[in-house]
Amino acid sequence: MENIIVAKFGGSSLADAHQFEKVKNIVEANGDRKYIVPSAPGKRHSKDYKITDLLYLCSTHVEQGISFDDVFKIISDRYNEIVTELSEKYNHMKALDINTYLLKIKYDIESGCPSDYTASRGEYLNAIILSTLLNYDFIDASDLIFFDKYGRLNADHTHKGIVKKLSSSKNAVIPGFYGSDPSGKIKTFSRGGSDITGALIARGAGASLYENWTDVSGFLMADPRIITNPMPIEAITYRELRELSYMGATVLHEDSVFPVREAGIPINIKNTNSPLDRGTLIVGDTHPMEKCGTITGIAGKKDFTVIAIEKNLMNTELGFCRKLLSILESNNVVFESMPAGIDTVSLVIPDYQLDNKLETIIEEINRQCKPDSLEILPNMALIATVGRGMSKSKGIAAKIFEALAKNNVNIRMINQGSSEINIIVGVENNDFEKAINSIYNAFL
Ligand code: ADP
Ligand code: ASP
Ligand code: MG
Repeated sequence: MENIIVAKFGGSSLADAHQFEKVKNIVEANGDRKYIVPSAPGKRHSKDYKITDLLYLCSTHVEQGISFDDVFKIISDRYNEIVTELSEKYNHMKALDINTYLLKIKYDIESGCPSDYTASRGEYLNAIILSTLLNYDFIDASDLIFFDKYGRLNADHTHKGIVKKLSSSKNAVIPGFYGSDPSGKIKTFSRGGSDITGALIARGAGASLYENWTDVSGFLMADPRIITNPMPIEAITYRELRELSYMGATVLHEDSVFPVREAGIPINIKNTNSPLDRGTLIVGDTHPMEKCGTITGIAGKKDFTVIAIEKNLMNTELGFCRKLLSILESNNVVFESMPAGIDTVSLVIPDYQLDNKLETIIEEINRQCKPDSLEILPNMALIATVGRGMSKSKGIAAKIFEALAKNNVNIRMINQGSSEINIIVGVENNDFEKAINSIYNAFL
């Protein structure tokens, strides 16, 4: 059977002509890399712009009736620079007239096209350029990634679409991040969604490997922006990866795990700037833990509000939690977690969900649930320590708590997922970086 590798390249891997060349070399180094999924150009340095952010900005300008010419010029200049520089080296690139595509997109934005369409053009243009550079077919994602009328991915229809489309192309570039809805309109995934496109293509192509190329040599034990030179993770299970990426390790979109996990396709996270590094292999949940007893990684997110509720005999009051949760539901608020004791329960809610709704929610809880006490803890951060070896080894929680206490970090909340691969602590936003450093140093 032929081997197929699906390779997704992130924004920093395609940020300028030099990065495009690295991608070309990587793809050509292994003939199995048959289907390629690019993101939009990302940042070339820390103060640079991501093209996707600029495209969203164009949409906002149009909505507010402000000219978007200046923003669009930055976008247009970036693509022109990429194509011009590539044309100087590769003759066949001269045939690509990128400005015709740019003019059409500008016209569409001016005509008030929806923001999903505008945002998707970053990936679309990159796929046009990359398919020309590689001499691969271009397949538009709107022809094989399908959403339903509620904006959710239609997994069945998508799978069939991918299988059908790929059967007539041996080598193709498919833009990441978007697909189409039942009326044919462009619909995007959430931010970072090209990872999901790559995973769906890998499953539809029957790939033996899904490579996710980025700017770090794999999944690291902690965010490199917080810990200097964190240890790389050689192998991680899909479950651990999902926990870590959901909790803020943004290397891979958390929803990209399902399609490949179902099909048993391993994911390899690799570094475009250092392609010979082994990277991280994401493997089945039964993969043995080499260093039993140690943790796999640490990740965290800031900006939560915790509503801590206490009521005597809460455990015997029928329907207490239902009332509590229906208050959130009627206010259209999604919560993060709900740690509970016998007479206590806390609601952990991301701040962006709350908007100006906190006062109303508190008033309704007091009226409907009649708690003995209700405390609001604002500016909270959650930190997850994740490891499949945890359930079998003693003292992991003690080590985390001791490390935090030693470094004077006040723990405001503790939660252990029933999967036993995860211990979550809530600390104040101000203590976030210190807490991650303390836990990391305690284990390494
Ligand atoms: P891409 O544009 O290639 O999709 P992302 O920016 O989405 O790349 O993801 C890679 C970035 O994720 C890294 O540059 C790093 O700053 C950040 N990151 C956060 N947590 C981790 C972690 N635990 N391991 C590696 N990278 C991490
Ligand atoms: N370009 C999109 C974003 O910035 C999607 C992606 O990079 O995966 O969110
Ligand atoms: Mg990403």
